[in-house]
Amino acid sequence: MNRIELLAPAGDLERLKIAVLYGADAVYIGGKQFSLRSRASNFDLEAIEEGVKFAKAHGARVHVTVNIIPHEDDLEELEEYLKALERIGVHAIICASLSVVRCAKRVAKNLEVHISTQHSTTNSKAVDFWKSEQADRVVLARECSLDQIKSVAQHASLPLEVFIHGGMCISYSGRCTLSNHMTTRDANRGGCAQSCRWKYRLLEKDEFIHDDKHLFSMSSKDLMAASYIQDLIKANIASLKIEGRMKSPYYLATVVRAYRMLIDAIYEKSLDDEKMKMILDELSRSENRPTANGFYEGLPKAYDQLYGVNGAGVTQEYIASILEYDKKSHMATIQVKNHFEMSIPVEVFGPDHTHAMTLNPCYDENGAEVEVANKPMQILKTRIDFEVKENDMIRKIVDKSDRHVY
Ligand code: SF4
Repeated sequence: MNRIELLAPAGDLERLKIAVLYGADAVYIGGKQFSLRSRASNFDLEAIEEGVKFAKAHGARVHVTVNIIPHEDDLEELEEYLKALERIGVHAIICASLSVVRCAKRVAKNLEVHISTQHSTTNSKAVDFWKSEQADRVVLARECSLDQIKSVAQHASLPLEVFIHGGMCISYSGRCTLSNHMTTRDANRGGCAQSCRWKYRLLEKDEFIHDDKHLFSMSSKDLMAASYIQDLIKANIASLKIEGRMKSPYYLATVVRAYRMLIDAIYEKSLDDEKMKMILDELSRSENRPTANGFYEGLPKAYDQLYGVNGAGVTQEYIASILEYDKKSHMATIQVKNHFEMSIPVEVFGPDHTHAMTLNPCYDENGAEVEVANKPMQILKTRIDFEVKENDMIRKIVDKSDRHVY
């Protein structure tokens, strides 16, 4: 049996590298063309090629989303684009349109074709259909329960991928036109304005139900499926997918590292209650909305949604990233990410280590001691007594009760 794949999102090259370094087996990215979220993508063909080289050098694969529902004029450059992706060594494309699947199988036979969750595949007969179209993998709809996933997997004629972490739609994924209606931005062509998460005033006939302080929103809590990973491995699922191409490097590092630890512990048969608690705690430290089980236990309940607030929150725990480390002097060059004071308790972590320490004095480029780091992106130097590497991160140690207060 193949080991299950941990598949992480990346919005740019920096995040692709972080995802790979922190343990992703594969990374999915959106190109500037033919991709949902294409407007936010930094991945032109040159950047995709650099990402593929980096991933391959670290034993990882790159999947590229080609998942818009194409209109007639989108088709013109599609063949050349797919050939270019194949030429530069992309492993797979993620498609939501039969015409793109057929085109890829005709002009770029070495690209695996994965069927996007936008297609809402929820049963093995639909998987059989994609097999007959020569697809290589199907991403199941996020609206499947664990029992349904197991049942589809038992009869599936293709490898399956499922979502395990990240943002959810309040509507059925890939079927929502709220954004199209409210803003003319097409959710199925990469333009979702997240209209479900806006704040609304509800009327019952002519009377407002809420006052101005208690406006209505329809935000879903984010998915967090760590407790189901053992079952998904047993069900022979091929790939576990983390959502969030727009998420920060810190989010990616934290979430990818936690699932890497979890998956490895399951295969090594070393997962116990203490390790699971540590992994869940790690996941709670990523900047995020409150989390829920999504559809894993069946239809989400009222408490799986956020009706009063939109729930977006950014943690201030992540204070700096490591740019360089001098082993002789033990001095690290760091880049400030969030405001911090000196002599606070921090954790320095990387893909395979976490060290608690008290933050030593920091010095600016003129060698002057800094009392408070309050300039994001400022470069400072500080002493760290153990070896750290580029792309390691520093975060505050905060009381758990201070987290996720939105
Ligand atoms: S408006 Fe909300 S539910 Fe609809 S597609 Fe966008 S995020 Fe999903």
